[in-house]
Amino acid sequence: MSTFDVINPATEEVITSVPSLSLEETDAAIARAHAAFPSWRAVAPGDRARLLRRFAAIVDEHLEELAQLEVANAGHTISNARWEAGNVRDVLDYYAGAPERHTGLQIPVPGGINATFHEPLGVVGIIVPWNFPMPIAGWGFGPALAAGNTVVLKPAEITPLTAVRLGELALEAGIPEGVFQVLTGKGSVVGWRFVTHPSVAKVCFTGSTEVGTRIMAGCAEQVKKVTLELGGKSANVVFADADLELAAARAPYGVFDNAGQDCCARSRILVEASAFDRFMELLEPAVKGVVVGDPTSEVTEMGPLVSAAQREVVTSFVPDGAPIAFQGECPQGPGFWFPATVLAPVAPGDRAVEEEIFGPVVVVMPFRDEADAIRLANDTPYGLSGSIWSRDIGRALRTARGIDAGNLSVNSHSSVRYWTPFGGFKQSGIGRELGPDALNSFSDVKNVFISTED
Ligand code: NAD
Repeated sequence: MSTFDVINPATEEVITSVPSLSLEETDAAIARAHAAFPSWRAVAPGDRARLLRRFAAIVDEHLEELAQLEVANAGHTISNARWEAGNVRDVLDYYAGAPERHTGLQIPVPGGINATFHEPLGVVGIIVPWNFPMPIAGWGFGPALAAGNTVVLKPAEITPLTAVRLGELALEAGIPEGVFQVLTGKGSVVGWRFVTHPSVAKVCFTGSTEVGTRIMAGCAEQVKKVTLELGGKSANVVFADADLELAAARAPYGVFDNAGQDCCARSRILVEASAFDRFMELLEPAVKGVVVGDPTSEVTEMGPLVSAAQREVVTSFVPDGAPIAFQGECPQGPGFWFPATVLAPVAPGDRAVEEEIFGPVVVVMPFRDEADAIRLANDTPYGLSGSIWSRDIGRALRTARGIDAGNLSVNSHSSVRYWTPFGGFKQSGIGRELGPDALNSFSDVKNVFISTED
């Protein structure tokens, strides 16, 4: 059987290897999911809710094990990894409330009664990237299962371990065989089969805009439903009237969390010109204060990049002669380390200004006024996230309304709360995950008219 190695990014040691499934094995799993669908959709809403709650409870019991697995597989800091495992539990608990509440409408019409039903789609294929293996998986399978679908899920090649464990825990919780399967393997084989297989009713993809574009085109061939959560180049807009000390202290965590491998990373800091020099004075100690090192340590704030390949990509954004304003430190020796790096002043058109870096590198640029801030923030094909720092709440709200992005926060860098919708404008994606509406993207509305005429 073909396999691939899983490597610890902090030590470069091979942890284990996992199967790389063939097309035939993928088809067999899709067939099992298809066969499991009629009985799963027929499980009474209260029973489906109970199973999802039990799944959440079992994830909670294994929270530390899952977190340690993610530290070893993805190099996430232990504190982040615990939050991520907890997020899977919370998302399952949240959507466990859904089967009993996913109500339709009764609409007044002449001559009878009209009712709508939310019908599950069938088999849903979920394709997950390597940067947040647990939460992104959970945002897909939680609402998909709650809505009555069966799920085949493909983790990224290099970070499969927590997803595989979640698949085992689902069975332990009593989720029937075939309802939730984790398939390890290549994107071009397993992932692409979700796109081409006629029994997969929907593809839920999170990853690069480049692959997402191909997935959307492939799904179009069968008019297959698709949700895309793609890249970002988000802005952190700091007005001169903000609490500059707080804005500078928090700015590193808005971009360097998960070593910058975050689709919501605020990788462009835009600062009102009159406050630019003061902000940079405050930012330098904040960046140098980020604790980088052994991800198993409770005090570590930033670990390594996920792979040697990703370190090469990030390095290409900081070539010799790059305008480095200041840089933090990172361990030498084994591990895919890269220091927190601040670039300024940067020329417009610099790759670091325009492209998603997905590493701990940020550019800082001045703006003139509110209109200029909005223009610069929107000067990107992406539109996922962003932050606005100001004491003037009217201005902050106007700016938030002016920025074309799906998830904005004021005086905070929070992007993801499972109670609220998450997703992108422009080339950052299509559709929304999380929040009360996610169920609607895993079901179709059926309209039934019943005549009451004699
Ligand atoms: P990627 O697009 O290379 O891979 C993502 C997933 O798609 C992996 O599981 C991969 O195996 C699979 N895949 C690759 N080629 C495929 C194909 N032809 N058919 C089907 N599946 C295929 O992305 P990545 O490098 O793993 O992740 C980083 C990217 O993900 C970044 O661009 C980041 O911004 C984005 N991302 C977006 C969000 C969001 O919610 N918007 C969240 C996290 C990551």
